[in-house]
Amino acid sequence: MSPIEKINKAELHRHLELCLRPDTIWELAPRFGISLKSQREFQERFMILEPMKDLGTVLNKFLDTQKLLATPEILERIAFEAAEDCYRNENLRIVEFRYSPTFVAMGHDMTFEQIHEAIVRGVRKAEEVYPMAVGLVCIIQRILPVKDAERVTDFAIANKDTFVGLDIADNEEGFDSKPFAPLFKRAAAAGLGITVHSGEAPNPKAASWVMDAIEVLGAQRIGHGVQIYRDEAVMKTVRDRKIPLELCLTSNMLTTAVPDLKEHPLKKLFDYGVLTTINTDDPGIFNTNLNREFRIAHQIQGLSHEELEKCSQIAAEHSFIPISKRRKVWPKELAR
Ligand SMILES: [Zn+2]
Repeated sequence: MSPIEKINKAELHRHLELCLRPDTIWELAPRFGISLKSQREFQERFMILEPMKDLGTVLNKFLDTQKLLATPEILERIAFEAAEDCYRNENLRIVEFRYSPTFVAMGHDMTFEQIHEAIVRGVRKAEEVYPMAVGLVCIIQRILPVKDAERVTDFAIANKDTFVGLDIADNEEGFDSKPFAPLFKRAAAAGLGITVHSGEAPNPKAASWVMDAIEVLGAQRIGHGVQIYRDEAVMKTVRDRKIPLELCLTSNMLTTAVPDLKEHPLKKLFDYGVLTTINTDDPGIFNTNLNREFRIAHQIQGLSHEELEKCSQIAAEHSFIPISKRRKVWPKELAR
């Protein structure tokens, strides 16, 4: 194992729907009318390896993988495999997977309950086999009507013993945060952690959306938030209020949120004192894992091994998984 592989890791931002093993996709695809004939075809349909035009194009590419998430058996399997890969390949001890019940359910004959029970079975099985703590975050899709968001929030609250947090994802442009505020208030009151996808795409308003996420939605962590480096005042607020950013290097490069990996502001934000964590976002579709992201942070961004360990420790300390559960699997002291 290389020194980077050896680092005990914690990850806060990984979408379960986009963590499928290539072998599993090859096996499942023909069952759903997708016959794959070559590696090239597989890559074209299921992977994003070159920077895409914009976030919208990327989100569309997720739909082929979604077709495979069709039964509780498949969901249990992919949840187990995703957690197993984290432990065995990436030395992850603490990991939060997030998924969107409305996205998984689309076109499939499953209730939210059936979806969630299957996923919980998969991750609990992994926790029995490996010394790791796995948490699940429930995602609201910003692009759906608020009525759907209400249903998802109610579902997350009803299952607060098996969800650790609530998130809202999808494109921010043209989708105001404010209508969702009462939902996040209720979720927080029920004890769920709040994280919000915000400040991902390079829009002149991106930094102000991050402020809305914090002040209007009560975000305790920000999914991405990468664009705040353009606004010193917002950077200062995020730093002073100790709001961790769930940064995703390869993802940001492929969705063209940043021009390239060298220009990514991870190091700049870290040096400024912002709580930065390193994440994979969608490791299956982006062909990455946390070892690779750490290597990029080290080789291209210039973070030292100690700084990488610090990012890992920040993630471990700001996970929404109960601290008693995290302490059992994390080799260092946890301050929170
Ligand atoms: Zn994400």
